[in-house]
This record gives sequence, C-alpha cells and structure tokens, in this order.
Amino acid sequence: LFSLDGPAWETDVHEQITVATVVFSEMPFGPFDYSVPSELVDSVRPGMRLQVPLGKRRKPITGWCTKVTATTTGGMALKPIDSCFDEKPLCNANLIQLVLWMAHYYQAQPGQVFDALIPAGVRMGAGTRATTFFTPTQQALDDDVVAKLPAKQQYALQYLIAAAEPMTLRDLADQAGCTEGPIRQLLQKELIVGEVRRVMTPGILPSRNNVMTDAHSLTKEQSAALAEICAALDSGKHSTLLLHGVTGSGKTEVYIQAIEHLQRFGRQAIVLVPEISLTPQTRQRFQDRFESVAVLHSHMSPVERNHHWQRIAEGQVQVIVGARSAIFAPTPHLGLIVIDEEHDASFKQDTIPRYHARDVARYRAHLEGIPLILGSATPALESWNAAKKGIYKRIPLHRRVGDRPMPHVQLVDLRLKEDRTGGSISRPLMQATRAALAKGEQAILLLNRRGFATTIQCPSCGHVVACPDCEMPLTHHRDGSKAVCHYCDYQIGTPPWCPECRFDGIRYSGLGTQKLEMEVKAKFPEAVIARMDSDTMRRPGSHERVLSAFRSGEIDILLGTQMIAKGLDFPNVTLVGVINADSALHFPDFRAAERTFQLVTQVAGRAGRGDAGGEVVVQTYTPEHPAIQAASKHDYFKFAEEELQQRQKFAYPPFGRIARIIIRGSEETLTEAFADNLVSSLERARDAQQAEIRILGPAPPPIAKLRGKYRFHILLQCPDAGMLGNVIRTATSEHRSGEDIQYVVDIDPLDM
Ligand code: ADP
Ligand code: ZN
Repeated sequence: LFSLDGPAWETDVHEQITVATVVFSEMPFGPFDYSVPSELVDSVRPGMRLQVPLGKRRKPITGWCTKVTATTTGGMALKPIDSCFDEKPLCNANLIQLVLWMAHYYQAQPGQVFDALIPAGVRMGAGTRATTFFTPTQQALDDDVVAKLPAKQQYALQYLIAAAEPMTLRDLADQAGCTEGPIRQLLQKELIVGEVRRVMTPGILPSRNNVMTDAHSLTKEQSAALAEICAALDSGKHSTLLLHGVTGSGKTEVYIQAIEHLQRFGRQAIVLVPEISLTPQTRQRFQDRFESVAVLHSHMSPVERNHHWQRIAEGQVQVIVGARSAIFAPTPHLGLIVIDEEHDASFKQDTIPRYHARDVARYRAHLEGIPLILGSATPALESWNAAKKGIYKRIPLHRRVGDRPMPHVQLVDLRLKEDRTGGSISRPLMQATRAALAKGEQAILLLNRRGFATTIQCPSCGHVVACPDCEMPLTHHRDGSKAVCHYCDYQIGTPPWCPECRFDGIRYSGLGTQKLEMEVKAKFPEAVIARMDSDTMRRPGSHERVLSAFRSGEIDILLGTQMIAKGLDFPNVTLVGVINADSALHFPDFRAAERTFQLVTQVAGRAGRGDAGGEVVVQTYTPEHPAIQAASKHDYFKFAEEELQQRQKFAYPPFGRIARIIIRGSEETLTEAFADNLVSSLERARDAQQAEIRILGPAPPPIAKLRGKYRFHILLQCPDAGMLGNVIRTATSEHRSGEDIQYVVDIDPLDM
C-alpha cells in the first residue's frame, strides 16, 4: 500500500482538496491533475501557467492550467504543483473555453492552442522588468512603533499607508521627498515588505498624436444596415450578420459607426482584416475615428506585441484591428467582432492549430453572447448558404456610395488573333490604358504570378528546369538572373544552356510580374510605373511608400499580384486590367471557380471609386466560363446559385464537410505505406461508427514533393462535422507521427 507519494492512508477520503488540471504544449500533452498546496490555493487560477513535476523529470516543467476544482479525494494521491509561473491568468474563462473547443474541433492539443493564442512576446514578458513593490506590514499599523521612528522613516511609512497601494522604492522616495535610505531602514525593521512583479518598461512605444476625422453621413442603405446592426447589439444576444455589400458600398463606414454605438456600453470591438500590413489605409480609417486603436500584425516585435496585449487586457483599447490572430485579443468586455472581406483565404492558418478565424470568431461570439459581422462583396459560399438558410442574417448594400455606377467590364478573348499584340497586353487593354493616361487617370494591372517568367524550358529537347526538392518548375527572376522554386525557395543561377542536352538557346516562357513590368515600360514609356509583389515588397514599410505615392498621383500605373486586389480605395483609378483571369481557374481544387470569381470581382472593384467612372478589361482564354461571365456582370447571385448546384452534386462544402490528412516522409514507399495504413484505420473506424464518409486517396497532392519530403494526402468527405471528427480521432489514435514520417490533420482545409 505504499506508493512513491507516500502511504495512501495519510490521505483522508473526505478531505477537501483543490485540484488543478494542467496541459502541456509538448509531449506528453496531458491533461493531468495536480493537487494545489494550501499556500497556493489563493493564487492558482485557470488560464495561468503553473510549474509542475512531470514523470521522471528532475526539474518542474511549465504547463497551462485549464481548470481548478475543489473535490474530495477518493484516496487518490495527486502530485502537488510546484509554483505559479504567472502572477495572473493570461486567459479569461471564455478564452479557455475557446482553446478547448479549438483543440477538439481542429484536432490539436490544448497546450499547442494556448501557445498559438498567447503571443510569444506575452509569454516571455517582452519589454517588462521585474520591479519590487512595497506594502506596509501588520507591525506598521501599531501607532506606538511608528511614533518611535525617526521623522523621515515615519513620514515615508505614513505616506505608504495613506497611498493604500503598493509602491516602488523610487516612487515612494520621490513622493515622500526622502532618499532611499529611510525606506531601506523600514524594510530592515520589517515595517514594510516587498513583492516582485513584472511591469511594462515605460516609454518604449512612441505615442501618437491623433487627428480625428468626422463621420460620413450615411447613405440610405448604410443607415438601414446600421440600424439592423445596432438592434443586434442592443439585443444582448449572439447573432451572425452577413453584410453583403458591393465593392465601394461603404462597408467600413458601417463598421465604424456600429463600433461607435457600442462605445455606449463601454465595450470593445475586434476587427479582422486580411493582411493588415498590406492595407495601411484600412487601419488608418479606424485610427482616424477612435482614440485608442491597437493594430496587431505579423511585423510587430515581441515587445510591441506584449505592450498592445497588456493594454488590451486592461481594457484600455476600444478597437483592435488586426490579422487573423487578433481574434484572440484578450478584451475584458468584448461587444462586437467584425470580419472584413470574410471570404479571404488568409483567415485560415496553415500551421497547427489549423483554424479558420471566421469559425473561431463565430464560436467566440457565441460564448460572449455578442454579434458577429461578416462583410464582403463576394461572400464565401459557406456564408452565403448559411444566410440562405436563415442561420445568418443577410444585410445587403446593393449600391456604391454616391450612387456611383459599377465599373463596366470588357472581356478580351485571348484566343482571337486580332486582339493580340505579341506581348501580354492585348490591343483593347493598350487602348484603354492609353486613354486613361491621356486623361491623367491611373491604372491597376493585376497579374497573379510573380517573377519574370514562369518556366525555363529548352526549345530543343523540351526539358523544363525544375526544383530538385519539389519537382516544381523553377521561375526565372531577372534580378541577379536567378531560378527560384516558389514552393521551397531553392535558388540557382539561371542556366545559360539546357542542363539536359546542352542546347544554348534556353527559353523563358510564361509570364510574371517582372516581365510584365518591362513590357508596360516599353509600351508606355511616358508613364511612371510601380510593381507590387512579394519580391519588391520585402522591406517593412514598402507597401506604405508605394501606396502613398500612388495615392498622391506620383505613380500612373500600379501593377502587381493579388496583393493589389485587396481593399484599396483610390478615387483616381479608372482602369483595372486583369492580365490573365484564368491563372487560378485550372488548379485542381474545387474552389478554383470561386477563387477566380472573387479575385476578378475584387480587383474590378478598385475601378471607378471616384467621380470619373471606371472601366475593367479582363483578358482570358475562357470568356464563356460561368465564373468569369458572372464576375464581368457583377452578378454574385447567379455565380453563387450555379456554383452551389455544382457543390451539391459532389457534396463539397457547404453541403458536406471535408478534412484532409497530409502525410510526409523522406522515403517515398514507406510514406505511401504509412498513408495506406492510415486509410485502413479510417475505414475501420468509419465502419465501426457507421459513419457516412467518403475516403479518397492516398494520392500525391498538387505539390507532391516539398522541401525534400514526399507527400501524400487523404481526403475525407462527410455530411456531418461531428461524425467526421470522431472517425479521424479514432483512426489517428492508432498512428503516431515519428521522426521519419509525420502527418497533420487539416479540418475544413482551404487548399487542396
Ligand atoms: P467597401 O469596403 O464597401 O468597398 P469602403 O468602405 O472602402 O467601401 O468605402 C468606399 C469609399 O466611400 C471610401 O472612400 C469611404 O470613405 C467612402 N464613404 C463611405 N461611406 C460614405 C458616405 N456615407 N458618404 C460619403 N462617402 C462615403
Ligand atoms: Zn523546391
């Protein structure tokens, strides 16, 4: 009856003990229960990190406390926790709930989700320093003792008692007008006691002078939308509103006024925008209208992040504007969540936990009992379908602000000889660009592919220069004449002759933004041209520079990849050209048509935002394709209805749920065998649970080799998310990722 923790009879079966449940972000993940020693009962709270003993480790390790319960032991001996790592919880009860839900739904470990939720800068306490705070002790309340003290000590002590809050040595000395000596004396006499706390180092972040701007007076449609949103805010209940407004209909102004309404309740709002670092304009709009805005993005230092996080946690921030991870902002009184451009793929995280911020936002809004607004001109079909079924409330904005017309879209069939020019800009697009430049207006040209040329191909033997690790064609870049793999960043000097047959006339085919830039420069020598893609925008702040030069009219033509399609609002842009609308259309992905429709509609929406009107020229090899047809007519409804029918036929989302398991390993046959075994387990689990699941694969995915590893994927389709999750959980419990072969589960994947 002796265990390592001592004889069992020492524990009284009826004794009340406090139990802390702890999870870890590394193996073994837990959860494990620990007893809380009586001296720590008042300090241990869920959402803080605890130091606990684990297994045979000699030192305690840090884990996240998810739960604290009082219980009577059944004679079971629990190990006691060692100490608290944090002074206060980093997560409130709702966020802990959110972590547990995410861990379950996305099949990740709660400890890993905590790590994703709490930024590293916060976990490290970046930009804080340990500071000792003093408070009077019991003895100091004895008047006789105090009366006998020398004057300076007496005064300092009385000052501290009167202050009624802990003070640092420096502050107390300054304010009581003495040196540190008398205070140290008080400490020696045990009349005051010090406690170490981590506080933010003051003055690290520059303060900003805000010039506030006034609200627009709303259009009729905007007012109606705002009224519906305010009603939802006043109801004190959770609901999801789909703000479906055409490009330029003024959705941002509606969000802003909804948040202004929210201020009456003293509550905060989270606004998620795609790629915040690319859209300085959007964040500026919020900063122009609210006193305290925190902007969270990926280029922040750990110190900045921690500062913002602490301010948010203290309730000092009214509005948080940020990319997907801002959904975890620790606001004490959250009142509204807005997801702008909710269809955007950047809201899905592609590392563990592979969450979609839209779905996490829904769950958080449900937990907090608050409204969620999803805004888009081209809602994801999942959202559109939910609105059709009445799960979301759809609020339309049919018209652009100021009754500006939608831009006219001209489709150019690239198969027709008479429109070709020998380059990538067709005759109609040439003419339209010339006309816009002649009037002093600006143009945007979209080409969704960076680099100079897509492939490097030998015209003699047909050999295509490919990445040795990924087997994907390398892309030629003119800067430094490099050949680059766009999947793994492998780089070599572009070979002057064919590596296969030594023919020395190797050709660069295809088209990238760099080559387009040269062509545009040659065709419009008088125009100032800027290129925006991930190659030219490597340095922080480069977007801001180009965009503000474009705004001020210093640049005539802005060309670039999809990063120029998003949310920009430039009134002098009257022409948008899409160089190749088909680039996303022929990808092996059931969302290819939706992506194409969204991209064309969004970039077209950059035209005609001012009084001069707008024109869009879309070049395509398949002008008859329904997605391109619908985009050219600004007809979301027709597109959505046709696409939904297609999806229903194959039970693709939103009609069924899908999950994807990616297996990768350095040995091809072993990796495939592992994948086959996993499929067998999935089939067994499916049959045992009588689940209606289609299992596809294992197959090589479109990127079959990445960073030197072979990849296989398994696709699962099921009408029911819960059923799908259970089968995957059961099957994966039989397989461990190891050194040689790893696998990941991606629930609701966006990339195929
Ligand atoms: P969306 O996000 O729907 O594409 P924006 O929010 O970018 O549209 O608004 C388009 C433009 O119209 C912006 O320049 C914005 O400042 C302006 N705007 C919005 N609402 C109004 C209004 N009620 N009156 C005048 N201008 C407005
Ligand atoms: Zn590669």
